[in-house]
This record gives sequence, C-alpha cells and structure tokens, in this order.
Amino acid sequence: MNWRGWGDPDKEADLPEGVRTLLRDLLGVREPTARAVALDAVRLPPPALPPAFERELAALLGQDALRLDHESRVRHTRGKSTPDLLRMRAGDGRDAPDAVVSPASHDDVLAVLRLCAAHRVAVVPFGGGTSVVGGLAADRGGHAGVIALDLARLDRLISVDTESMVACLEPGLRAPEAERLLAEHGLTIGHFPQSYEYATLGGFAAARSSGQASAGYGRFDDMVVGLTVATPSGTLDLGRAPKSAAGPDLRQLVLGSEGAFGIITSLRLRVRPLPPERAYEGWHFPSFAAGREAMRALAQEGPPPTVLRLSDETETMVGLARPDDIGALSADGCLLIAGYEGAGVEATREAAGRVLAAHGGKPLGEEPGEAWAHGRYAAPYLRDSLLAAGATVETLETAGFWSDLPRLYDAVRLALHGALGSPLVMCHVSHVYPTGASLYFTVVTAQTDDPLEQWAGAKRAANDAIVAAGGTISHHHGVGRDHRDAYAAEIGDLGIEVLRAVKERLDPTGICNPGVLFTPTGPASEERDRG
Ligand SMILES: Cc1cc2nc3c(=O)[nH]c(=O)nc-3n(C[C@H](O)[C@H](O)[C@H](O)COP(=O)(O)OP(=O)(O)OC[C@H]3O[C@@H](n4cnc5c(N)ncnc54)[C@H](O)[C@@H]3O)c2cc1C
Repeated sequence: MNWRGWGDPDKEADLPEGVRTLLRDLLGVREPTARAVALDAVRLPPPALPPAFERELAALLGQDALRLDHESRVRHTRGKSTPDLLRMRAGDGRDAPDAVVSPASHDDVLAVLRLCAAHRVAVVPFGGGTSVVGGLAADRGGHAGVIALDLARLDRLISVDTESMVACLEPGLRAPEAERLLAEHGLTIGHFPQSYEYATLGGFAAARSSGQASAGYGRFDDMVVGLTVATPSGTLDLGRAPKSAAGPDLRQLVLGSEGAFGIITSLRLRVRPLPPERAYEGWHFPSFAAGREAMRALAQEGPPPTVLRLSDETETMVGLARPDDIGALSADGCLLIAGYEGAGVEATREAAGRVLAAHGGKPLGEEPGEAWAHGRYAAPYLRDSLLAAGATVETLETAGFWSDLPRLYDAVRLALHGALGSPLVMCHVSHVYPTGASLYFTVVTAQTDDPLEQWAGAKRAANDAIVAAGGTISHHHGVGRDHRDAYAAEIGDLGIEVLRAVKERLDPTGICNPGVLFTPTGPASEERDRG
C-alpha cells in the first residue's frame, strides 16, 4: 500500500486531459509549489515505550512480532482520508505509533492487551488501514506509549458450514483473500466496498461498513452472525443462533465499536453461493429526483437489484460513475447503474426494468454498467493525482429517511458551497433500504495555502448541516475521531455515558483505541488536557 496515497504505487493514475482542463478552467486549480516528501523524511515522535514493556512483549510473542523501525511506524500512521494523506505528503508523522505489534492468535491478542493494561500502553487495532474518519490516529493522552496492533497474521478461514451457510474467518483477512478462500467452496461474502482491495474483515465489522452491492447482499453488519472479541477484561463470544430473544444483542455493541472495547479476533459470517450470472446496465433519468423515486420503488416493492447507484446531475456530467472516462463532459440528467447477480438474473432484470421505466428511466444498455464495474476501484487512485495537481478532493456521506433526503441533499450542498466558495460538489445514492437511503458526496475545489484548514472548515459546515437536517453523521465510514462531536449530538449525553460505562467495564485502564467514538475521560485525558 502506498504510504502517502492509495493502493499499489505502480498503478498511480495520470490525470486525463479532460480533468486537467476542468480543474484549471472551472475551479482555478494551480500546481502546488510543495512536493510530497520521501518516506525517510517523515518526521516521527521519538519512540516512547517503556523498555520493560518492550522486553516483556518480545518474550511473549517473539522479537519478530515487534517492529520499531521508521518504515513500519510510517506505514501504520493514520488512515486514508484526504487530511491523512495531506499530512503524510507534508512529512507530518506525529500520530505514528511507537511500535507495530503482530499477534497471530486470539490468545496472543489477550496477552498483549493484559501487558498493555499493566504498562498503560494504548493499543490501536490496525486492519487494512483504510479508515477515513481518524480511526487509527493514536490519542496519546497520558499513556506510556502507543502500539499499532497489526492483525495481518490473523488471516485464516477457520471453518465453513455449508448447511447453515456460515463461515468462520479471522479479522486480518483482506477482502480479496477472504473471497478467494471462500470461492474454493463455491461461496462469497458479497461485500465490495470501494476500499475492497485493501480493507479487512475486522475493519468492516469494527466500522459497520457497507459495500457497493449492499442492495443485494446487505451491509456488513447484517452479515455478521457471531464474533469473538478479546478485551482487557477477558473474552466475549457472541452469537450462538441466527436470531435470539435472549436480551439485548451484544453483537451490536461490538459492531461499530472501532476498537474502543477490544479487538475482534474472529467473525462468523453469513455467506452466499457464488453467483452463476452477473449483468450490469445503465439507465438515464431526467432528474435526480425522478431517479430517486425509481430507487425508492425498487427498495420498497422490489425486485431489488444487487447493485443500485444513482449519480446526481453534476456527478453524471463529470462522469464519476465511469472513472475510465472521467472528465469527458457529457449527458444531461442522471445516470443510474443497476447490477444483477445470482440465479435468474434475466427475470429480475426485466422486472426491475419495468419499475425503472415506469418512473421515467430510459435503458442505456450494458455498456455504462460494464464501464462502472470495470472502474469501480479506480477512483481512489484519481484522488492522489488530484491532490498532487493542487486540488482538494474528499468524500463524505450520510443517510436519512426517504422523506428527509431532498432536504438533506440541499443542506449539505449549501453548506459545502458556503464554506468553499465554488467547489464542484457531486453526489450519488448507492445504499437503499425500504425506509431510506444514503447520500455520498464527492467535493473538489482548488487548494488554498492551508488545505487542511480549508477542508476542516468545510467538513464542520457539512457535519452541522447533516445534524440539523436530521441525517446520521455516518452511513458507513464510522465515527473515529473526526465525527465524535456530531455523534455525541446524534445519541445525546446519556447515550455517550452508556458507551463510557461499557468501556469502563471492558477496558478499565482505557488503553483500547482511546479517542474513537467519544472523548476519553479519566487521568489519561486530564494529563493530556493539562499538557
Ligand atoms: C478509498 C476508500 C474507499 C472507501 N470505500 C468504502 C466503502 O465503499 N464502504 C465503506 O463502508 N467504507 C469505505 N471506506 C472506509 C474504510 O475502508 C472502511 O471503514 C473499512 O471498514 C475499514 O477497514 P480496514 O480493514 O481498513 O480497517 P482499519 O482502517 O484498519 O480500521 C478501521 C477502524 O476499526 C478498528 N479495527 C480494525 N480492525 C479491528 C479489529 N479486528 N477489532 C477491533 N477494531 C478494529 C481500527 O482501530 C479503526 O478504528 C473507504 C475508504 C477509502 C480510503
């Protein structure tokens, strides 16, 4: 993984000429004067771990499981939001962990947590490192040090129950490897977020991820039927039946907990047969509102396609749904992509097509759908090129009930325009439910001299607009540290107190990813506040 950008450095994309013209003429983007620094020039805080902790850790897991070198620390610094990338490009590694620790089993994780609690060392679980909400930036607050707990060695497919269609897998598996292992049994998870190539199963569960095929396969949290969690207070083993009336569902407390209560060390997931057929197609709608109504009809009355994605007028014009042809300004109205996977694709496609047509959709055939499917993981590479060219580009997302969506859409766009002047704001709907849907915004604007402050202002404005318009602060990116305030506004003081009480019981010394979900309290944070 590119340490200051996205993905495979060999796949770095050059900006198409159409995009360069757009940036220059429409947004006034100019090449930045500063170049990105080299890896060895990244400035890191001096290592702070107590020597006794290092010795005991090496004795526990072996010296190979403990890395203290510059490169390992850099590669485990923060995640992949635009502010994360801007800081790394500028050589700011102040959020780096002191060491990277690689356990290989649940028992290893339990032992590391006990040791960290004894030495008051903070533990940041690290899956694929693709968090975009500050989920990996260590909150050092009074801790004796910080380790990144890299889960890459927990990478096994443990068992497959084809009768129940449940597979047990370890959390450090990246999505493509998990799919490869399951494909040997003719199975799939069906979770394909845009970060698919690098993100892990543990990260999906810990941040309540949602993939591009969520209309058909569901969100990741819908797929989790059981979890094992190592906490400083012991092991939680949750989920012994498909559904249960035995009290509140504690699995839901772990899903979305982002490492604040402990480390997920195995997952039992509902799996599906590998789809025998696939087809993707495009539809044209005269307006975003018309396309949205068509999506609502499919979500409420069916039949739901596996992939359902509608770009607004601006996103359609720029061509973001087709990263291979981006910048080839075209089209009026809105592009909808529908994908069908499974058995009997043709029948579903025909039935869904009748609903789309009844709402004013015009079929565009398979070409736009195939182009979307081909370029579906390409857009993040484009972000690196845009940043290097002097544009600030970032995404944000929310969700709301159908009746609130138009207001939410207008409010976020207005807030972004107010904060940034004349940015390009694009939006799509790509996760639908009978009761509502998510909105995913992509923003491009010319970088100012301080792009971090520029984006921080825009993000504050967008967050306030989302809260005021009744949306959730995140449909699938999570809370991390970036959304803490808005999350507190969403669940209220009592809600935050409940979460704090759970943390105090499971993690009494507050070592587990301190600072995600809510601001830490207690001696560690008091020391931080003083210092
Ligand atoms: C380019 C790009 C595209 C993206 N597209 C999508 C998308 O389409 N849909 C979507 O949902 N998200 C998307 N994301 C966000 C991100 O990929 C998801 O949040 C994903 O779930 C993170 O997985 P990860 O393995 O990288 O986790 P990490 O980033 O390593 O961790 C995420 C959080 O979970 C914690 N954590 C990780 N593993 C564990 C564990 N085993 N136990 C406890 N806590 C743990 C971490 O400490 C952190 O707080 C995207 C991100 C990028 C950069």
